[in-house]
Amino acid sequence: MSRECEDLATRVNLLLTLGEGCSAINSSEVRLTGGRGEVEDIRTAERDRVRYFKSLEDIPELSEDERDELEPVARIYPFRSNDYYLSLIDWDDPNDPIKRIVIPCLDELDNGGTLDPSNEKSNYVAKGVQHKYSPTALFLVSKVCGGICRFCFRKRLFAASRKEASLDISEGLEYIGQHDEIDNVLLSGGDPLILSTKRLERILASFRRIPHVKMLRIGTKMPAHNPYRIIRDPMLLRVLSEHSNPQRRIYIMTQFNHPRELTPQAVRAIALLQDSGVLLANQTPLIRGVNDDPDVISELFNRLSHSGVTPYYLFQCRPTRGNRCFSVPMEEGYGMFEEGKKTMSGLAKRARYVMSHTSGKVEILGLDEDSIYLKYHQARDPEDMGRFFSAPRVEDALWLEDLGASDEMHHFAEMES
Ligand code: SF4
Repeated sequence: MSRECEDLATRVNLLLTLGEGCSAINSSEVRLTGGRGEVEDIRTAERDRVRYFKSLEDIPELSEDERDELEPVARIYPFRSNDYYLSLIDWDDPNDPIKRIVIPCLDELDNGGTLDPSNEKSNYVAKGVQHKYSPTALFLVSKVCGGICRFCFRKRLFAASRKEASLDISEGLEYIGQHDEIDNVLLSGGDPLILSTKRLERILASFRRIPHVKMLRIGTKMPAHNPYRIIRDPMLLRVLSEHSNPQRRIYIMTQFNHPRELTPQAVRAIALLQDSGVLLANQTPLIRGVNDDPDVISELFNRLSHSGVTPYYLFQCRPTRGNRCFSVPMEEGYGMFEEGKKTMSGLAKRARYVMSHTSGKVEILGLDEDSIYLKYHQARDPEDMGRFFSAPRVEDALWLEDLGASDEMHHFAEMES
């Protein structure tokens, strides 16, 4: 282990085990965690293990009637969470945003949409590997998360029969090793940080043996779902530190959806990750009942940037089966984001409002009286890259196809077939 790693390990171990003196180890800790009272709360919680639940029976705050009513939803779209995340819910608030993120709701039984709205199945090139944009490979290395978000666009992965995510990475590594146009790999799933640290280390080390892969991204909601996964595992921080270096950084792509998820524990997990030498950026869908409010988006993006996490994407909710109730029309979403930007710092409003369409990442740029203006930020067809286009306004449009039968739409229809 290098000297730098030893130092980091010592600091992390001290931070986790000392009863006193966090401020001596990292002065930002006390500031970030908001003072001694909160620091002590964290220490108390750390002594207890985070417990995971897969049954609505494990949630005493739900009445028996509610559990009976929601059981059919959970049979189709499984429930999973843990006691840390559930403790963030204010059960007296029927519209609590955290509850909306993780507790099933009856509206999910609306069967509109498909299970694979971005047609990801057409992107597979090897077991677990999607290759849609030339420099980027997406590797699904896990089919489990710290909790299951009700609005997840990959909820198909959680069905026992699905084999899209792969624990065997050999075929995927071989493909990526043979394609030197791939300079960055996004590890996703599922949540890669649910894997054991040893497995994650093997994965990171394998990619570090491929010289043309310069950047690794780890897509994770674990800092929100269970920050103790990070706080309590100095070995994870050592592994990240060893594999993130000035020439080839690791990016942690977090998914905070609401400012209430930025608890002292989560902020501390963020700080430990930053100390390990990784860079952090956040992506979140715009979700009805969770963050569909300019003040909430503004607070979320401002607080992320205060903690040094770059707001990266605000995603249009994909038309996934069971997700209609979480979708916000594009025009409304655009208005909310623009309104929220009025109280964001320049750094907080770096995020782009985009739609992950089959044909590419389409940024929603603006509206005038008659038209909506869009641009390809990424494109499956290199000819489309950077292409700016407009379509007549449709107030309730949720997705590109809803914008009508323009030439663009015919173009997409051809790509689908
Ligand atoms: S963490 Fe991501 S992959 Fe997992 S359920 Fe939530 S949205 Fe889906």
